[in-house]
Amino acid sequence: MNILIINAGSSSLKYQLMDPQTGVVSAKGLCERIGIDGRLNHKAGDGDKIVRDIPMPTHSEAIAATLEILQDAEVGVIKSVDEIDAVGHRVLHGGMEFFDSCIINDDVIKAIKKCIPLGPLHNPANLMGIEACQAVMPTTPQVAVFDTAFHMTMPPKAYRYAIPTEYYENDSIRRYGFHGTSHKYVAKRTAELVGKKEFKMVNCHLGNGSSMSAVKDGKCQDTTMGLTPLAGVPMGTRSGDIDAAVVQFLCNKYGYSVDECLNILNKKSGMLAISGVSSDFRDLEDGAKNGNEDCALARDKFCYEVAKFVGAYAAALNGIDVLTFTAGVGENDCNVRASVCEYLGFMGVKIDPELNGKRGKEMKISTPDSKVEVWVVPTNEELMIAQDTAELVTAAK
Ligand code: ADP
Repeated sequence: MNILIINAGSSSLKYQLMDPQTGVVSAKGLCERIGIDGRLNHKAGDGDKIVRDIPMPTHSEAIAATLEILQDAEVGVIKSVDEIDAVGHRVLHGGMEFFDSCIINDDVIKAIKKCIPLGPLHNPANLMGIEACQAVMPTTPQVAVFDTAFHMTMPPKAYRYAIPTEYYENDSIRRYGFHGTSHKYVAKRTAELVGKKEFKMVNCHLGNGSSMSAVKDGKCQDTTMGLTPLAGVPMGTRSGDIDAAVVQFLCNKYGYSVDECLNILNKKSGMLAISGVSSDFRDLEDGAKNGNEDCALARDKFCYEVAKFVGAYAAALNGIDVLTFTAGVGENDCNVRASVCEYLGFMGVKIDPELNGKRGKEMKISTPDSKVEVWVVPTNEELMIAQDTAELVTAAK
Protein backbone atom coordinates (compact mmCIF):
# COMPACT_ATOMS: atom_id res chain seq x y z
CA MET A 1 0.00 0.00 0.00
CA ASN A 2 1.19 3.55 -0.75
CA ILE A 3 0.10 6.36 1.55
CA LEU A 4 0.96 9.94 0.70
CA ILE A 5 1.45 11.94 3.90
CA ILE A 6 0.95 15.68 3.63
CA ASN A 7 1.94 18.24 6.25
CA ALA A 8 0.91 21.65 4.88
CA GLY A 9 2.13 24.86 6.49
CA SER A 10 1.32 28.43 5.47
CA SER A 11 4.14 28.66 2.90
CA SER A 12 5.44 25.09 2.81
CA LEU A 13 4.22 21.56 2.25
CA LYS A 14 6.09 18.43 3.35
CA TYR A 15 5.31 15.07 1.79
CA GLN A 16 6.28 11.43 2.20
CA LEU A 17 5.20 8.38 0.27
CA MET A 18 5.16 5.50 2.74
CA ASP A 19 4.20 1.87 3.01
CA PRO A 20 2.21 1.77 6.28
CA GLN A 21 2.99 -1.91 6.89
CA THR A 22 6.77 -1.64 6.70
CA GLY A 23 7.23 2.07 7.39
CA VAL A 24 9.50 2.24 4.33
CA VAL A 25 9.53 5.72 2.80
CA SER A 26 9.95 5.47 -0.98
CA ALA A 27 10.17 9.24 -1.51
CA LYS A 28 9.92 12.42 0.48
CA GLY A 29 10.27 16.12 -0.02
CA LEU A 30 9.38 19.68 0.73
CA CYS A 31 7.67 22.37 -1.32
CA GLU A 32 8.75 25.71 0.03
CA ARG A 33 8.22 29.40 -0.71
CA ILE A 34 4.59 28.73 -1.71
CA GLY A 35 2.96 32.06 -2.59
CA ILE A 36 6.40 33.67 -3.04
CA ASP A 37 8.02 31.84 -5.96
CA GLY A 38 8.23 28.10 -5.26
CA ARG A 39 10.94 25.49 -4.78
CA LEU A 40 10.69 21.71 -4.65
CA ASN A 41 13.17 19.59 -2.68
CA HIS A 42 12.76 15.90 -3.45
CA LYS A 43 14.52 12.68 -2.49
CA ALA A 44 13.63 9.21 -3.70
CA GLY A 45 14.87 6.32 -1.52
CA ASP A 46 18.64 6.55 -1.11
CA GLY A 47 18.94 8.84 -4.14
CA ASP A 48 20.40 12.34 -4.13
CA LYS A 49 18.37 15.34 -3.09
CA ILE A 50 16.93 17.20 -6.06
CA VAL A 51 16.03 20.89 -5.96
CA ARG A 52 13.81 22.42 -8.64
CA ASP A 53 12.43 25.94 -8.91
CA ILE A 54 8.76 25.54 -9.84
CA PRO A 55 6.23 28.40 -9.64
CA MET A 56 3.84 27.73 -6.73
CA PRO A 57 1.40 30.63 -6.35
CA THR A 58 -0.83 28.42 -4.16
CA HIS A 59 -0.86 25.01 -2.47
CA SER A 60 -2.57 23.56 -5.60
CA GLU A 61 0.58 24.03 -7.67
CA ALA A 62 2.65 22.56 -4.82
CA ILE A 63 0.50 19.41 -4.77
CA ALA A 64 0.59 19.23 -8.57
CA ALA A 65 4.40 19.53 -8.52
CA THR A 66 4.60 16.84 -5.82
CA LEU A 67 2.47 14.40 -7.83
CA GLU A 68 4.43 15.17 -10.97
CA ILE A 69 7.85 14.49 -9.41
CA LEU A 70 6.55 11.31 -7.76
CA GLN A 71 5.73 10.11 -11.30
CA ASP A 72 8.90 11.49 -12.91
CA ALA A 73 10.62 8.99 -15.22
CA GLU A 74 14.02 9.49 -13.55
CA VAL A 75 13.48 10.50 -9.94
CA GLY A 76 9.89 9.34 -9.42
CA VAL A 77 8.78 6.18 -7.65
CA ILE A 78 5.31 5.58 -9.13
CA LYS A 79 3.97 5.35 -12.68
CA SER A 80 0.55 6.82 -12.02
CA VAL A 81 -1.36 8.69 -9.30
CA ASP A 82 -3.60 5.60 -9.10
CA GLU A 83 -0.76 3.88 -7.22
CA ILE A 84 -1.43 6.22 -4.28
CA ASP A 85 -4.04 4.40 -2.21
CA ALA A 86 -4.86 7.28 0.12
CA VAL A 87 -3.61 10.61 1.43
CA GLY A 88 -3.12 11.30 5.16
CA HIS A 89 -3.13 14.97 6.16
CA ARG A 90 -1.68 16.31 9.38
CA VAL A 91 -4.15 18.81 10.86
CA LEU A 92 -3.15 20.90 13.86
CA HIS A 93 -6.36 21.59 15.72
CA GLY A 94 -9.39 19.33 15.89
CA GLY A 95 -10.99 21.34 18.71
CA MET A 96 -13.87 19.52 20.40
CA GLU A 97 -14.98 18.23 16.99
CA PHE A 98 -12.50 15.37 16.52
CA PHE A 99 -11.64 12.54 18.89
CA ASP A 100 -9.81 10.50 16.29
CA SER A 101 -8.49 10.52 12.75
CA CYS A 102 -11.23 10.39 10.12
CA ILE A 103 -11.95 10.12 6.41
CA ILE A 104 -12.45 13.58 4.96
CA ASN A 105 -15.86 14.53 3.58
CA ASP A 106 -17.76 17.83 3.36
CA ASP A 107 -18.81 17.69 7.03
CA VAL A 108 -15.22 17.09 8.13
CA ILE A 109 -14.06 20.10 6.08
CA LYS A 110 -16.75 22.22 7.73
CA ALA A 111 -15.70 21.04 11.19
CA ILE A 112 -11.99 21.75 10.48
CA LYS A 113 -13.05 25.25 9.39
CA LYS A 114 -14.95 25.64 12.66
CA CYS A 115 -11.67 25.00 14.49
CA ILE A 116 -9.84 27.85 12.71
CA PRO A 117 -10.19 30.27 15.68
CA LEU A 118 -8.34 27.68 17.80
CA GLY A 119 -5.57 27.12 15.25
CA PRO A 120 -5.54 30.37 13.24
CA LEU A 121 -2.09 29.88 11.71
CA HIS A 122 -2.14 26.17 10.94
CA ASN A 123 -5.70 25.04 10.21
CA PRO A 124 -6.17 27.28 7.13
CA ALA A 125 -2.89 25.94 5.68
CA ASN A 126 -3.91 22.34 6.48
CA LEU A 127 -7.22 22.97 4.69
CA MET A 128 -5.42 24.35 1.65
CA GLY A 129 -3.42 21.11 1.48
CA ILE A 130 -6.61 19.04 1.71
CA GLU A 131 -8.49 21.06 -0.89
CA ALA A 132 -5.53 21.03 -3.28
CA CYS A 133 -5.35 17.21 -3.05
CA GLN A 134 -9.10 16.85 -3.53
CA ALA A 135 -8.88 18.98 -6.67
CA VAL A 136 -6.10 16.97 -8.34
CA MET A 137 -6.96 13.48 -7.07
CA PRO A 138 -10.74 13.57 -6.52
CA THR A 139 -11.24 9.80 -6.26
CA THR A 140 -8.38 9.10 -3.81
CA PRO A 141 -9.55 8.85 -0.18
CA GLN A 142 -8.21 11.60 2.10
CA VAL A 143 -7.81 11.23 5.86
CA ALA A 144 -7.31 13.93 8.51
CA VAL A 145 -5.03 13.13 11.46
CA PHE A 146 -5.27 15.70 14.26
CA ASP A 147 -2.49 16.83 16.61
CA THR A 148 -5.08 17.21 19.37
CA ALA A 149 -7.10 13.98 18.94
CA PHE A 150 -5.03 11.65 21.13
CA HIS A 151 -5.62 13.93 24.12
CA MET A 152 -9.42 13.91 23.81
CA THR A 153 -9.67 11.04 26.31
CA MET A 154 -8.61 13.39 29.14
CA PRO A 155 -11.21 13.66 31.92
CA PRO A 156 -12.80 17.09 32.58
CA LYS A 157 -10.70 17.62 35.71
CA ALA A 158 -7.63 17.60 33.44
CA TYR A 159 -8.98 19.58 30.49
CA ARG A 160 -11.17 22.22 32.14
CA TYR A 161 -9.58 25.54 33.07
CA ALA A 162 -10.80 27.05 36.32
CA ILE A 163 -12.22 30.13 34.57
CA PRO A 164 -15.90 31.09 34.09
CA THR A 165 -17.80 28.25 32.43
CA GLU A 166 -19.22 30.47 29.68
CA TYR A 167 -15.78 30.61 28.02
CA TYR A 168 -15.72 26.82 27.88
CA GLU A 169 -19.33 26.50 26.75
CA ASN A 170 -19.41 29.39 24.27
CA ASP A 171 -15.82 29.53 23.10
CA SER A 172 -14.44 26.00 23.67
CA ILE A 173 -11.62 27.38 25.86
CA ARG A 174 -10.00 24.35 27.53
CA ARG A 175 -6.84 22.27 27.52
CA TYR A 176 -6.42 20.41 24.21
CA GLY A 177 -2.76 19.42 24.04
CA PHE A 178 -0.60 18.92 20.93
CA HIS A 179 2.02 16.51 19.50
CA GLY A 180 -0.84 13.98 19.83
CA THR A 181 0.32 11.92 16.85
CA SER A 182 3.75 11.55 18.44
CA HIS A 183 2.32 10.73 21.89
CA LYS A 184 0.00 8.17 20.29
CA TYR A 185 2.82 6.55 18.34
CA VAL A 186 5.07 6.31 21.41
CA ALA A 187 2.23 4.96 23.60
CA LYS A 188 1.41 2.31 21.00
CA ARG A 189 5.05 1.37 20.39
CA THR A 190 5.81 1.25 24.13
CA ALA A 191 2.94 -1.20 24.66
CA GLU A 192 4.63 -3.46 22.09
CA LEU A 193 8.05 -3.01 23.72
CA VAL A 194 6.91 -3.77 27.29
CA GLY A 195 4.60 -6.50 26.05
CA LYS A 196 1.40 -5.36 27.77
CA LYS A 197 -1.59 -3.14 27.12
CA GLU A 198 -2.52 -2.14 30.65
CA PHE A 199 0.10 0.04 32.26
CA LYS A 200 0.69 3.63 33.31
CA MET A 201 3.25 5.79 31.57
CA VAL A 202 4.49 9.32 31.18
CA ASN A 203 5.81 10.24 27.74
CA CYS A 204 8.26 13.14 27.44
CA HIS A 205 8.25 14.53 23.88
CA LEU A 206 11.24 16.86 24.22
CA GLY A 207 12.27 18.77 21.12
CA ASN A 208 12.30 22.38 20.08
CA GLY A 209 8.67 22.30 21.15
CA SER A 210 8.13 20.01 24.15
CA SER A 211 5.10 18.38 25.70
CA MET A 212 4.41 15.53 28.06
CA SER A 213 1.48 13.22 28.47
CA ALA A 214 0.15 10.96 31.22
CA VAL A 215 -1.20 7.78 29.63
CA LYS A 216 -3.13 4.92 31.23
CA ASP A 217 -3.81 1.74 29.24
CA GLY A 218 -3.02 3.60 26.01
CA LYS A 219 -5.39 6.50 26.74
CA CYS A 220 -4.27 10.03 27.47
CA GLN A 221 -5.23 11.29 30.96
CA ASP A 222 -3.42 14.62 30.99
CA THR A 223 -0.95 16.65 28.96
CA THR A 224 1.18 19.74 29.44
CA MET A 225 0.21 21.88 26.46
CA GLY A 226 -3.10 23.70 26.63
CA LEU A 227 -5.40 25.69 24.39
CA THR A 228 -2.25 26.44 22.40
CA PRO A 229 1.25 24.92 22.27
CA LEU A 230 2.59 27.71 24.53
CA ALA A 231 1.78 25.94 27.80
CA GLY A 232 3.66 23.36 29.87
CA VAL A 233 7.43 22.95 30.15
CA PRO A 234 9.72 25.76 28.93
CA MET A 235 10.82 25.09 25.34
CA GLY A 236 13.38 26.28 22.79
CA THR A 237 11.80 29.73 22.46
CA ARG A 238 8.47 29.33 24.32
CA SER A 239 8.02 30.23 27.96
CA GLY A 240 5.83 27.28 28.93
CA ASP A 241 3.57 27.89 31.94
CA ILE A 242 3.74 31.33 33.49
CA ASP A 243 1.42 33.43 35.64
CA ALA A 244 -1.07 34.96 33.16
CA ALA A 245 -0.74 38.30 34.96
CA VAL A 246 2.79 38.63 33.52
CA VAL A 247 1.06 39.56 30.24
CA GLN A 248 -0.85 42.38 31.92
CA PHE A 249 2.32 43.61 33.64
CA LEU A 250 4.40 43.70 30.44
CA CYS A 251 1.62 45.29 28.38
CA ASN A 252 1.09 48.01 30.99
CA LYS A 253 4.76 48.72 31.59
CA TYR A 254 6.07 48.61 27.99
CA GLY A 255 2.94 49.53 26.04
CA TYR A 256 2.93 46.18 24.19
CA SER A 257 -0.23 44.92 22.60
CA VAL A 258 -1.33 41.45 23.79
CA ASP A 259 -0.16 40.06 20.41
CA GLU A 260 3.30 41.60 20.88
CA CYS A 261 3.51 40.16 24.35
CA LEU A 262 2.47 36.70 23.13
CA ASN A 263 5.09 36.96 20.41
CA ILE A 264 7.72 37.45 23.14
CA LEU A 265 6.39 34.44 25.05
CA ASN A 266 6.33 32.26 21.91
CA LYS A 267 9.49 33.33 20.10
CA LYS A 268 11.86 35.07 22.50
CA SER A 269 11.50 33.09 25.71
CA GLY A 270 12.33 29.58 26.92
CA MET A 271 15.89 28.27 26.60
CA LEU A 272 16.84 31.14 24.30
CA ALA A 273 15.84 33.71 26.91
CA ILE A 274 17.41 32.09 29.96
CA SER A 275 20.67 31.20 28.23
CA GLY A 276 20.87 34.42 26.21
CA VAL A 277 22.69 32.22 23.67
CA SER A 278 20.50 29.76 21.76
CA SER A 279 17.33 27.71 21.71
CA ASP A 280 19.28 24.64 20.61
CA PHE A 281 20.14 22.17 23.36
CA ARG A 282 23.46 21.31 21.71
CA ASP A 283 24.56 24.95 21.91
CA LEU A 284 23.46 25.08 25.53
CA GLU A 285 25.49 21.99 26.34
CA ASP A 286 28.57 23.47 24.65
CA GLY A 287 28.00 26.75 26.49
CA ALA A 288 27.62 25.00 29.85
CA LYS A 289 30.79 22.94 29.23
CA ASN A 290 32.67 26.17 28.57
CA GLY A 291 31.53 27.62 31.88
CA ASN A 292 28.53 29.71 30.72
CA GLU A 293 26.31 29.64 33.81
CA ASP A 294 23.22 30.89 31.99
CA CYS A 295 23.43 27.95 29.57
CA ALA A 296 23.75 25.58 32.53
CA LEU A 297 20.78 27.26 34.24
CA ALA A 298 18.62 26.95 31.11
CA ARG A 299 19.30 23.21 30.89
CA ASP A 300 18.75 22.67 34.59
CA LYS A 301 15.51 24.68 34.53
CA PHE A 302 14.30 22.50 31.64
CA CYS A 303 15.15 19.19 33.35
CA TYR A 304 13.67 20.44 36.64
CA GLU A 305 10.36 21.37 34.99
CA VAL A 306 10.18 18.08 33.05
CA ALA A 307 10.84 16.13 36.26
CA LYS A 308 8.21 18.20 38.11
CA PHE A 309 5.57 17.20 35.56
CA VAL A 310 6.59 13.54 35.79
CA GLY A 311 6.05 13.83 39.56
CA ALA A 312 2.68 15.51 39.03
CA TYR A 313 1.59 12.87 36.53
CA ALA A 314 2.78 10.06 38.80
CA ALA A 315 0.34 11.51 41.36
CA ALA A 316 -2.40 11.92 38.73
CA LEU A 317 -2.05 8.28 37.66
CA ASN A 318 -1.42 6.98 41.19
CA GLY A 319 2.01 5.72 40.20
CA ILE A 320 3.70 4.99 36.88
CA ASP A 321 5.23 1.86 35.37
CA VAL A 322 7.07 3.35 32.42
CA LEU A 323 8.76 6.65 31.55
CA THR A 324 9.56 7.33 27.89
CA PHE A 325 11.70 9.93 26.15
CA THR A 326 11.23 10.95 22.52
CA ALA A 327 11.86 13.72 19.91
CA GLY A 328 15.10 15.62 19.15
CA VAL A 329 16.21 16.25 22.73
CA GLY A 330 14.56 13.19 24.32
CA GLU A 331 16.16 10.83 21.78
CA ASN A 332 19.61 12.40 21.60
CA ASP A 333 20.48 14.35 24.71
CA CYS A 334 21.70 11.77 27.25
CA ASN A 335 22.53 14.43 29.82
CA VAL A 336 18.96 15.79 29.80
CA ARG A 337 17.65 12.25 30.33
CA ALA A 338 20.18 11.61 33.11
CA SER A 339 19.30 14.85 34.88
CA VAL A 340 15.52 14.30 34.66
CA CYS A 341 15.94 10.76 36.02
CA GLU A 342 18.19 11.99 38.82
CA TYR A 343 15.40 14.29 40.02
CA LEU A 344 13.12 11.24 40.00
CA GLY A 345 15.39 9.09 42.15
CA PHE A 346 12.88 9.43 45.02
CA MET A 347 10.40 7.39 42.93
CA GLY A 348 12.92 4.60 42.47
CA VAL A 349 13.79 5.65 38.90
CA LYS A 350 17.29 4.35 38.11
CA ILE A 351 19.02 4.39 34.76
CA ASP A 352 22.15 2.62 33.56
CA PRO A 353 24.66 5.32 32.51
CA GLU A 354 26.19 3.07 29.88
CA LEU A 355 22.86 2.28 28.22
CA ASN A 356 21.84 5.92 28.50
CA GLY A 357 25.07 6.96 26.76
CA LYS A 358 23.71 5.85 23.39
CA ARG A 359 21.55 8.13 21.29
CA GLY A 360 18.74 8.06 18.79
CA LYS A 361 17.92 4.35 19.26
CA GLU A 362 14.92 2.46 20.56
CA MET A 363 16.21 1.15 23.91
CA LYS A 364 15.50 0.49 27.55
CA ILE A 365 17.86 2.56 29.69
CA SER A 366 16.68 1.70 33.22
CA THR A 367 18.49 -0.76 35.49
CA PRO A 368 16.81 -4.09 36.31
CA ASP A 369 16.04 -2.87 39.85
CA SER A 370 14.49 0.47 38.75
CA LYS A 371 10.90 0.81 40.01
CA VAL A 372 9.97 2.44 36.70
CA GLU A 373 11.04 1.15 33.28
CA VAL A 374 12.70 3.98 31.35
CA TRP A 375 12.76 3.80 27.56
CA VAL A 376 13.95 5.90 24.65
CA VAL A 377 11.40 5.49 21.84
CA PRO A 378 12.21 7.51 18.69
CA THR A 379 8.99 9.05 17.48
CA ASN A 380 7.56 8.51 14.00
CA GLU A 381 4.60 10.78 13.41
CA GLU A 382 4.55 10.02 9.69
CA LEU A 383 4.23 6.29 10.32
CA MET A 384 1.35 6.95 12.73
CA ILE A 385 -0.40 9.10 10.10
CA ALA A 386 0.17 6.41 7.45
CA GLN A 387 -1.14 3.64 9.75
CA ASP A 388 -4.24 5.61 10.79
CA THR A 389 -4.93 6.44 7.15
CA ALA A 390 -4.49 2.85 5.96
CA GLU A 391 -6.66 1.50 8.79
CA LEU A 392 -9.54 3.88 8.08
CA VAL A 393 -9.42 3.43 4.32
CA THR A 394 -9.23 -0.38 4.59
CA ALA A 395 -12.16 -0.45 7.04
CA ALA A 396 -14.26 1.73 4.71
CA LYS A 397 -13.81 -0.62 1.73
P1 ADP B 1 10.77 20.17 16.64
O1 ADP B 1 9.98 20.56 17.84
O2 ADP B 1 11.21 21.33 15.80
O3 ADP B 1 10.19 19.01 15.86
P2 ADP B 1 12.91 18.28 17.24
O4 ADP B 1 12.15 17.21 17.90
O5 ADP B 1 13.48 18.02 15.89
O6 ADP B 1 12.13 19.65 17.27
O7 ADP B 1 14.10 18.67 18.23
C1 ADP B 1 14.99 19.68 17.90
C2 ADP B 1 15.97 19.87 19.05
O8 ADP B 1 16.61 18.62 19.35
C3 ADP B 1 17.09 20.82 18.68
O9 ADP B 1 16.79 22.11 19.12
C4 ADP B 1 18.26 20.28 19.43
O10 ADP B 1 18.41 21.07 20.59
C5 ADP B 1 17.89 18.88 19.87
N1 ADP B 1 18.84 17.89 19.36
C6 ADP B 1 18.86 17.33 18.14
N2 ADP B 1 19.92 16.48 18.03
C7 ADP B 1 20.58 16.54 19.22
C8 ADP B 1 21.75 15.90 19.75
N3 ADP B 1 22.45 15.05 19.03
N4 ADP B 1 22.09 16.20 21.01
C9 ADP B 1 21.38 17.05 21.74
N5 ADP B 1 20.28 17.69 21.30
C10 ADP B 1 19.88 17.43 20.07
